[in-house]
Amino acid sequence: MENIKGYNSTLLRMKNRGQVFKELVTNNGVLRTELAERCGLSKMAISYIVNEFLEKDIAVETVKNEEQRLGRKSVVLRLSPGAKKIIGLGIQRNSISAALCDCQLNIIRANTVQFTECDTDFLIEKAFALADEMMEGHQILGIGIGSIGPVNFEKGIILNPPNFYGIKDVPIAELFRQHYGLPVFLDYHYNCAARAEKYFGIGRDYKNFILLGLREGLGIAIVVDGKIFTRMVGASSELGHVTVDINGPECVCKKRGCLGNYMDFSSSDATWKTLEILCTVLSGICDLLLPQAVIVREEQSCLGNEHLEWMEETLNQKIQARDYQHIKVLRSYRSKELEASGCAANVLGRVFSGEIEI
Ligand SMILES: [Zn+2]
Repeated sequence: MENIKGYNSTLLRMKNRGQVFKELVTNNGVLRTELAERCGLSKMAISYIVNEFLEKDIAVETVKNEEQRLGRKSVVLRLSPGAKKIIGLGIQRNSISAALCDCQLNIIRANTVQFTECDTDFLIEKAFALADEMMEGHQILGIGIGSIGPVNFEKGIILNPPNFYGIKDVPIAELFRQHYGLPVFLDYHYNCAARAEKYFGIGRDYKNFILLGLREGLGIAIVVDGKIFTRMVGASSELGHVTVDINGPECVCKKRGCLGNYMDFSSSDATWKTLEILCTVLSGICDLLLPQAVIVREEQSCLGNEHLEWMEETLNQKIQARDYQHIKVLRSYRSKELEASGCAANVLGRVFSGEIEI
């Protein structure tokens, strides 16, 4: 909090508001006293913010269900059904998925467009059409876009994803801002998934975790001390292009023997071999970061519980801190179908930090 003297009162108000909103949406029914405790704010400050939320139809007050049965009446606060909604857009190599969600990432409507050919104009045109369809009849807080990497999330640019029809340097966030006049945020799709996991999934229990994305290649998102770790120039982390064999086949990135090229889940034997390679690399990453958990997010459901259990055992045998730390390997709570809604978490994160106002 040493920077607090640098905030002016408006910024501080936004931060406090964001924090209260976060507690409101990430808990299913919260008391005013709990809000005060969790946010470290006075009862008066909470009362001021909550009253504003009630007036603006951001929150509603209800009696706690279980207490109603017991004849007691504790009034809890919940997200109002009338609160603004968020659009999430997920950009993959052969599809764009879209979802209209509430601020708890519950999906109100969703749609996906598939393609086998694409260029920048087509991509933007389809993304706009999906966003139009999602926002119809609703007040929108913002648009969160998640894309295959690499992306520059600070500038909102999709850089040069391999095997993506030559599409390159697309300033997608700015194009959306100009078109809709709404807050728009781009991030690497696995960072979006990790954010959603952090607010509403397994990540709630861990301040430090790695989300491992298994698709046709391999992706990673790193959460350190509750924050998404980003590389120094504002670009997403990459795992698929870590070299595992200096004499291996040439990759699209021009290096040899990249990890992503060894991901093969086509048979049982191939899956076990793949996991062996993966755990070896992962143990090195865990030696660097020592997370509390690795959350596996699969796109094609190739791994059974026996695979995850084996990964946990193997990984913990390999790490240097094996005598002191046990890293859990867990399955993501969010399925592939929830990808677009996970992208909406980009917007939520900005509301929680007080950067934009609900
Ligand atoms: Zn590569």
